[in-house]
Amino acid sequence: MSWFKRENGEYESGAATIGRETPEAAEKRVRTEGLWIKCLGCLAVVWKADLVANLNVCPKCQHHFNLGARQRIGMLLEPGYELVDGGLRSTDPLNFTDITPYKVRLRKAREATGLDDAILNAVGKLGHHEVVLSAMEYRFIGGSMGAVVGETIARAVDRARLGRKPLIVVAASGGARMMEGVVSLMQMAKISTALAQLDEAKVPYICVLTDPTTGGVTASFAMLGDLNIAEPGALIGFAGPRVIEQTIRQKLPEGFQRSEFLLERGFLDAIVPRREMKSYLIRALDFLKVPVVA
Ligand SMILES: [Zn+2]
Repeated sequence: MSWFKRENGEYESGAATIGRETPEAAEKRVRTEGLWIKCLGCLAVVWKADLVANLNVCPKCQHHFNLGARQRIGMLLEPGYELVDGGLRSTDPLNFTDITPYKVRLRKAREATGLDDAILNAVGKLGHHEVVLSAMEYRFIGGSMGAVVGETIARAVDRARLGRKPLIVVAASGGARMMEGVVSLMQMAKISTALAQLDEAKVPYICVLTDPTTGGVTASFAMLGDLNIAEPGALIGFAGPRVIEQTIRQKLPEGFQRSEFLLERGFLDAIVPRREMKSYLIRALDFLKVPVVA
């Protein structure tokens, strides 16, 4: 069971060590607990404050960690933006239970994130452009799309169309929310229909795909932007690599379903590092002007 062994060969649970450590070591552990994080990209131990100051991008290898919806809005919009379309909560239409009841999952996710669901809408200024921004929250049940996420994004789309302001959606999602069954799948059609109306009204829509963007989100609004741009190294796909390998019975190429692979094959328009995302979007909106209607 080589996968079970630690790199340094030892296996000891944290609880087992705590009882036997010296008082000095215990004090140091308490003082430094939660201050460090192991980078998933380069395996270096990074000081959390450095990571946060660097927009959750590893200062050593540029690995892009997930960024919450609130931080994302704060990073892109000028101060003074307004959060809108809040207050929607899932009704648990199927009264669904798997390992834990869906209602309990929802409550825990609300407590952990302080959000009602995996999405936040905001209106404000991105540089000198008035925009509608919708950002997904991966920490809320994997950023999955149920009725609330669907309705909130559809409202952002309508808001952009009626206010004739460009729409930007930042996707971070494991796909449709299985606890809402077919209701979650219907969101794909609902959002896509709203986006078709936005397209007819000639209001620009840019989708920013972040790690991960998969399933029904990729299969609907995340790939429907006038521009579809991604952060470096983001996992973007419909089904997972293992499912695909087992279906086609072929080994998948290196880097399959990562932003760089998708850009090379024409699925994406650009890969933009997080620190350059705001200036890139401003320049893109300078080109994608909203036509004035008589
Ligand atoms: Zn790193």
